[in-house]
Amino acid sequence: MERYLKLLRTGLSPIYNHLVATKSKTKSIAELDKFLADGGFTRAKRPKGALERHRSQRDAEQTPKRAKPAAKPKRKTSKLEILRADWNLPWLINGFSTRTGGYSTAFGPDRKDLNLGISQHDSRDTVLKNRAAFFKSAGATKLTLISPKQIHSSIVHVLDSAKPTAGTITADGLITNVPGLLLSIQTADCVPILLVDTKTKAIGAFHAGWRGTVARIVEKGVGMMRVTYGSAPRNIRAAIGPCIAQCCYAVGEEVVDQFHTQFAYADALFKPYFEDDPINRKYPLLFMTARAPGHSNLGPQIHLDLVEANRRQLLDAGLDPKKIWSSDECTSCNTDRFFSYRKEAGFTGRMMAIIGIK
Ligand SMILES: [Zn+2]
Repeated sequence: MERYLKLLRTGLSPIYNHLVATKSKTKSIAELDKFLADGGFTRAKRPKGALERHRSQRDAEQTPKRAKPAAKPKRKTSKLEILRADWNLPWLINGFSTRTGGYSTAFGPDRKDLNLGISQHDSRDTVLKNRAAFFKSAGATKLTLISPKQIHSSIVHVLDSAKPTAGTITADGLITNVPGLLLSIQTADCVPILLVDTKTKAIGAFHAGWRGTVARIVEKGVGMMRVTYGSAPRNIRAAIGPCIAQCCYAVGEEVVDQFHTQFAYADALFKPYFEDDPINRKYPLLFMTARAPGHSNLGPQIHLDLVEANRRQLLDAGLDPKKIWSSDECTSCNTDRFFSYRKEAGFTGRMMAIIGIK
């Protein structure tokens, strides 16, 4: 009994952590029941329906309005898919790749992935074969691919010649008004954003993870299109491609702090989420913590809405909200269709966002 009392004094979390570290979560509930029963503890019965009432009330208070993107009909497909905004501009090539319809087997023997990123995980020949299939399907075979080295910065590179200088461009944004160039951005959770000025025929492609978003890369991108091509924001259309949505994007304090330093509207970008955990549901007291919400690995985690953050920047830059299209697909929720760096713990491929003037 002394052992149990000692554990109760120090809090029950150590028991939970020990059990989770040594057993699977489902096994842990049985272990936990036995452990507590052995110590002479039984759980007081809740009034019938109390937990459900508590949970639904809690969810109503905590669940953000734009929690999960509305469930779309599952398209079980092995075909090469390209997601596009409904722009209908015959002089423009644009789109976001998914992971289906390629030749890569590196990320699962029963898969045929369209990995478009060259890395040590996949063979270079396979990636080049995937790219050829993607460009063919997108009608982009005659364009010159511009694929920058992305470093999570706010660097926007201006391409002003049909024959770009040799060597790698290091940037997280590209803009041009030169026909024949295919601007590209690679992602697997980060936000890919494409811009087109329909009046002056200028285009841009941007890579916005949380660092690029804090550095306001897309807001800066619109500004550079204004300065370089005289683009009026009201003539610019934007497309936000598949990325990790708020449902799956838990972030740490340092991220929350940086957004609050930069944006007056930062509060609107974050929401607490509770992980649905069977042990949490049965033994909520195990998750009692003295730390503030979001500051502990128990209880709610703070989630960031990167799509909303970038949409706000586009609005601040003067874009018409009706001209901002978003795919509203979560990469982490749908690893059948998208690569997700976080969900797949880094072992994954890359999708590509492309835009080019014919
Ligand atoms: Zn998700």
